[in-house]
Order: sequence, then C-alpha cells, then structure tokens
Amino acid sequence: MVAYRQARGVLPALLALRNSEIETAVIPFENFSETRLLKNLKIIPVKTIRDVLGWLRRNEIPEQPTVIDEEIKVDTKDFSEVLGQESAKYALEVAAVGSHHVLMIGPPGTGKTMLAERFPTIMPPLTEDESIQVSAIHSLSGDLQHRGISTRQPPFVAPHHTTSRAAMIGGGSHAIKPGACSLAHRGILFVDEAPECATGVLDALRQPLESGAVTISRAIGSATFPAQFVLALAANPCPCGRFAGRGRACQCTSVQVRRYLHRLSGPLLDRIDIRLQVLPPTRESLSSHARSESSAEMRARVIEARGRSEARLLPLGISRNSEIPASLLREKLRAERSAMVFLHGELEKENITARGFHKVLRVAWSIADLAAHEIPSLSDVQQAMTLREGLELMS
Ligand SMILES: [Zn+2]
Repeated sequence: MVAYRQARGVLPALLALRNSEIETAVIPFENFSETRLLKNLKIIPVKTIRDVLGWLRRNEIPEQPTVIDEEIKVDTKDFSEVLGQESAKYALEVAAVGSHHVLMIGPPGTGKTMLAERFPTIMPPLTEDESIQVSAIHSLSGDLQHRGISTRQPPFVAPHHTTSRAAMIGGGSHAIKPGACSLAHRGILFVDEAPECATGVLDALRQPLESGAVTISRAIGSATFPAQFVLALAANPCPCGRFAGRGRACQCTSVQVRRYLHRLSGPLLDRIDIRLQVLPPTRESLSSHARSESSAEMRARVIEARGRSEARLLPLGISRNSEIPASLLREKLRAERSAMVFLHGELEKENITARGFHKVLRVAWSIADLAAHEIPSLSDVQQAMTLREGLELMS
C-alpha cells in the first residue's frame, strides 16, 4: 500500500493554468475537492504513481472521489445567540458596511470574542472569484479543509496574542507561506488581548493595512500575497481587566491603566475608525424575552447599504467608505451643512483631532448608507462620534 497525501498550493497552481493551453492536470486524490470551483480544466485525481502510469499508458481514469458537500462547514454562529449588546452589534453593522477597522475595549467576559466571531456572518457574501482567491490562499497554507471550498462567507482568522510576526504576516524557511493577515483576506482578522502582542507583531500589519498586500522576502525568494482584511482588535481596559465604568474592583494605578492601551501604537490606531466600549450586558437585556436579531437580518441591511455606497464610490475609483480620501470628505463627499458646522465646532473645542474629523465623516457615511440618507445628516455625524466612545479610555 502506497501512502498518498494532500499537497499544499494545488488550487493556486491550477488557477495559474487558466490562461495557458494546458487542459488536463494530474493532482493528488486528496486535493480533489478544492478543484471543484474550476471550470475548463480536466482533473485526474491519483492516489499512487501507478495511477499516473495507468492513465499515461492505457488512458485509464482512476476513480474520482465523491466530493462531500462542504456547505456543512459553513459557520453556524449567529448574532441571534448574542443577548443584549445592541450598540456593539450596531457598531459592527456599520463597520461591515464601510469595512471600518474596529477596536473593542471591555473587561473579560463581556462577549468581545463572541461578537467578533459573528462579524463575518453579517458581511456581504464573497463573489465566486473572491471565494476562489480566498480558497487559493488557504490552499497555500495547507488549511483549506478548515474552510469549506465553496463557502461564500468571508473568512474569520483569529491568531493568538502570542503569535509571531512570521505567523501574522507570512514567512517560513522552506517555502514562504501566507500568514494570518492573508488568510483573513476579504474577511476579518481578529486579535484578542491586542495590547499583549509582542512588540512589532501588530505594527507589521501596517504594510498590508496600507497596501492590501504583503510582500515577504527570504533567502529562498520573495512572495506577495493579498491581504485586504477588516481588522478587529479587542482589549481589556487595563492590565487586570476590571477597569469598567467606575473602575469597579480594579487594582491598577491610573498610570498603568493609561499605559496599557497605549501599547497599541499610534500609527496602528490611526487606521481604526471605530473604538467601541463593550460593557457587561445589563440584567434587563439578559432576562428580557425580546428576540435578538439574526445575522441574516443584519446582513440584509448591510448588503443594501453596501449597494448605496458602491453606487456613490465606484465612479470615484474607491470601493469602501473607510477608503474615502480626506480631500473628498472636505469637498465632494461632505456631510450636511449643519453636520459640518457641528464637526468644525468639535474641532475648535479640541474634542476631535483633524484625523478624528475625517474618521467621523467616513463612519457617518456608513451610518447614512444604513439609514438610506442621501448624505450624512447631523444625527448621523453625532452617532459616528459615539462610535468613538472607547477613546475616553485611551486619553
Ligand atoms: Zn485594572
């Protein structure tokens, strides 16, 4: 009996054949399922070299594996399981519309992870091309089996805060493998307890956050992987984690509290539009019999709002509200007059910085898209301001 096994990177190798004249590919039997999205290519799955010879000499086609319907791998997590936390859910809905990066600050046990894990379930589904691209990256890292090949749900990747720089952005000495930020391409990259990450690990994300791709150079060569993700960071408010509201039971000194969140560097925080304080759910919300909205209901609104923002932005060469350049926010994509007057007032009172001014406007556009407003109103802008309440903890 000859052992056979799965190989990494079969899907991207086959994708590279799409524009060639090659019509047939011989691949490992175990990789067959990842080829099911490919059209116009004849696939011969083989278990042994004998199968290859049989095909070459006698044109014998080895039996094809039955492909299990991988839809069963679709994530079954749903927002209907999250009781209360209405403002956090709304903030994530806004983030999903504009692809805004999010920082969630709150004590342990408030459900930050539960919220983040359900974030991809309200994002618009991937197109077929996007889905193939995402699968190709997962094929390179050899973990395609953890993600159904035909799932259209954006990926959710959650590296632990002890993760290395190479695991975060990619690397390796034998073959360059994509890192967490590329596995999260077109989906969510979630880092819990972000201030605990080793120095430089989160900052290494600045390149992909800037360019949507990451280039890794090693002695064996260099590779560029796509890495367009929505970053979701979660953090405790202080080293002991209990600093909430009036600082109940927190033993940390004010200096420790202040320093803790500042472990997240300024340049990284500059990329984050929404800073959300996640508080323990109130007793009423837990005991209330009010139904929690499902992910499907929330996603339907996000898809509609996304449609509005794309109709406005695609002609300008942008696709998401989070990408609107500052120059456009001051002219063509201003908010309502009263809203601009309000924001300039906040700027003069030094309640926001110039950078914050633009962030509020970007988020306000996503809020306006959700509310079907032609342009952001004063209340849309004020609501966008409240999605920065986590800021108070950082000052
Ligand atoms: Zn504390």
